[in-house]
Amino acid sequence: MAASRIAARELLHNIKLIPYYQKSSCLFIRWISTSKFQCSSQPLEKSALQQLVGVVGLEIHAQISSNTKLFSGSSVQFLAPPNSLVSFFDASLPGTLPVLNKRCVEAAVMTGLALNCTINKKSVFDRKHYFYADLPAGYQITQQRRPVAVDGVLTYSFLGGRKRNQVMRKNVYIKQIQLEQDSGKSLHDDVNSQTLIDLNRAGVGLMELVMEPDMSCGEEAAAAVRELQLILQALGTCQGNMSVCAEGQLRVDANVSVHRPGEPLGTRTEVKNINSLRYLARAIDFEIQRQTEVVQRGGAVLNETRAYDSKSGETVAMRDKEGLQDYRFMPEPNLPPLLVFEDEASLPAGVEAGQAVLLCTLRAGLPELPSVRRDRLVQTYGLLPEHSFTLVNEDGLMEYFEAVMKGTSRDPRKVIGWVTNELLGLLKQQDLSVSHSPVPPAALAELLELQEAGRISSSAAKQVFQEMWRSPGKAAPQIIQERDLGLVSDDADLHRICQKVVESHPDEVRAVRSGNQKVLNKLMGLVQKETKGRADPVLVRKILQEKTS
Ligand code: ADP
Ligand code: MG
Repeated sequence: MAASRIAARELLHNIKLIPYYQKSSCLFIRWISTSKFQCSSQPLEKSALQQLVGVVGLEIHAQISSNTKLFSGSSVQFLAPPNSLVSFFDASLPGTLPVLNKRCVEAAVMTGLALNCTINKKSVFDRKHYFYADLPAGYQITQQRRPVAVDGVLTYSFLGGRKRNQVMRKNVYIKQIQLEQDSGKSLHDDVNSQTLIDLNRAGVGLMELVMEPDMSCGEEAAAAVRELQLILQALGTCQGNMSVCAEGQLRVDANVSVHRPGEPLGTRTEVKNINSLRYLARAIDFEIQRQTEVVQRGGAVLNETRAYDSKSGETVAMRDKEGLQDYRFMPEPNLPPLLVFEDEASLPAGVEAGQAVLLCTLRAGLPELPSVRRDRLVQTYGLLPEHSFTLVNEDGLMEYFEAVMKGTSRDPRKVIGWVTNELLGLLKQQDLSVSHSPVPPAALAELLELQEAGRISSSAAKQVFQEMWRSPGKAAPQIIQERDLGLVSDDADLHRICQKVVESHPDEVRAVRSGNQKVLNKLMGLVQKETKGRADPVLVRKILQEKTS
């Protein structure tokens, strides 16, 4: 009796879920039409005149950082010899059975918690069938009916505004996070017209994150993925590298459509083959533009998969999706439901805490997430939000800044200028990562200390920094000495130079005397020019004020 009640409840639960996942078009349309992005109260005539806007929803496959695969004990490693990491199960030998990797479950749950998801205490595995040479079983084990985490939200920010220095904050909702197996890889040998299969990647654990179509352009999508990357890296659940050489640790598929606000969402295309954030933004913006032109010409956007070609900056059709593929989903019979428990007290009899995935333990172990890190930087150092944003978003920059702070007593708001302008500027110019900076943090700290102690002016410090950049290993004091960049604070010297400037600029002196203090800055600039930026600015101002009073 009790069992059949549970079964009935299960059934009801599933029925409720069907419209959410069902791919059949009528149910899909029903879901879309009740989605929160609709604003059907607007009159049609008015909205028809409105501009077309882009709608973007991302599907992201994140490879889980774990030593072994999702259902087998084979190692997970990049660049191992082909087919050297393949167990009988990974090769789908009959009679082999899946054994769920606890680490992968914990990674997905931690990711779900960090993205404010509801964690399903019970989720299930399904088989999704399709036939491809690098999928030896003919199906992928995934989570279709009830994934491990649902209904989350990712808050991301980007620098916007007129000067692009204002931190803009937005939300994208996460529909679900599911655990699934990666496929192997097909290597096409065009010369010998053959395809070779490498199963090293077959069965590696993936988290698929499905985002709601909440974004509207490439910049937003790239910012959301960047925030996700930072979160995954902080959690240690995925290394998050998008480049091809990282074998697709983070694979982003962009679903893109256009519509007029207030009208139903348009037909979408799915863009694949995107391996950097820059390309993601470009591919999406290209696609929005292309679809806008199609619709404006009176054409129809086709529901197709397109690939991004980074050379031409365009998306090109790969295959159409009109005839929806039937994946013949069915429950995976060899895996019991995946259970997650709140805490030790909620464990059923006979289950040891060490075997179970406990939410309270994972919640307590969550590391400092990027948004918290930014707030901490603002609070600890009195930085502006846009500076804390840059420090956290550029790989290794926060660590660099904090290392400089350890070696100097300068005001952090001065140090941040050096790190985000001078250092980052040169790094970007030369396409270097922070870890490859020729000037290590301690060397910059030493330079800033010399400036703080009044040994060099700020413009001379910049020259020293440039020289340190060009000659790695050369310390600031040596450069100051060699190039005679020390501060000129000799009273007599400065008096002489100031006198010369005052005598040769009678108009400016008159202007200062009649109350225009701004012109004093011009005179100061002229003195600095004479001294190659080495004059002590406080002293120069004092002397010039005396001479023009
Ligand atoms: P399917 O089940 O057909 O794959 P989903 O509802 O799972 O469809 O959506 C897949 C992805 O496509 C999600 O990331 C979602 O945000 C996005 N998406 C759905 N409809 C649109 C649309 N009209 N425009 C842009 N993205 C969309
Ligand atoms: Mg989908």
